[in-house]
Amino acid sequence: MRETELDTPARPDVATALRWARARVAGMDARILLRHVLQCQAAWLAAHPEAQLDPSDWAEYRLLIERREAGEPIAYLVGEREFYGFGFLVTPAVLIPRPETELLVELALAHFAARRSVRVLDLGTGSGALAIALAKELAGADVTAVDRSREALLVAMANAARLHASVSFVQSDWFGALEGERFELIVANPPYVASDDPHLAEGDVRFEPPTALASGPEGLDDLAEIVAAAPPHLEPGGWLFLEHGYNQAARVRGLLTDAGFASIASWKDLAGTERVSGGQWLGRHG
Ligand code: GLN
Repeated sequence: MRETELDTPARPDVATALRWARARVAGMDARILLRHVLQCQAAWLAAHPEAQLDPSDWAEYRLLIERREAGEPIAYLVGEREFYGFGFLVTPAVLIPRPETELLVELALAHFAARRSVRVLDLGTGSGALAIALAKELAGADVTAVDRSREALLVAMANAARLHASVSFVQSDWFGALEGERFELIVANPPYVASDDPHLAEGDVRFEPPTALASGPEGLDDLAEIVAAAPPHLEPGGWLFLEHGYNQAARVRGLLTDAGFASIASWKDLAGTERVSGGQWLGRHG
């Protein structure tokens, strides 16, 4: 097929390539993907509208733009997403780290920054974002991270190596492989979307692992399982912090109350939504 039949300029400059892309995807996505292909900074792109693209760069760019147009998330297309100031590798085997999850890191730091040593567990670590951010930011943290998915653990291990974070990774379905182990802090961003939520069939989340997103008819199945199973894995005085959906805070506080937690509270994300709930285990192990 000749190029013209594909309706694309033969060998465009930066300005022409961006104009072609902006007719298909958002302007910011067009620029991010062109920076990715050309391996350049935003300032270089802005200063060189007349720079010619190599045929191979142009072919790669067109492919990425068409994949983005079909809905693939930018983070998967460029293979990376920033979380808590660190660059994480991401693949379709893991949920793309989201800014609201930084609240879990902030709460952990607020409660434990003064401790000389703290055993931390991240349940369902995915890309490793939470576990690695905590290992980097919390002095004295001894971090274990589990995931049921081997593919996710491979991504998380690559991130820990790349970011020089010391984290122990274990393949485990929630607490399944952690018999007898206790922690001062347990964090989780489990799946919490209702399985029939139309949101799952729209936009970028269609490309993310369903097992990282959906959790039963009300989205509460995994949250309930984690809360019920956590107490024997918490040291007396230890904390459990869970991310949840925008309308689940009261239900999660109820689960924590039923399981015997104290100091139960919910915290708001930057959008003002109650996004994390947690409680303290005071040590009535039985
Ligand atoms: N907040 C995510 C979303 O709505 C869901 C993340 C999760 O289930 N842990 O896409």
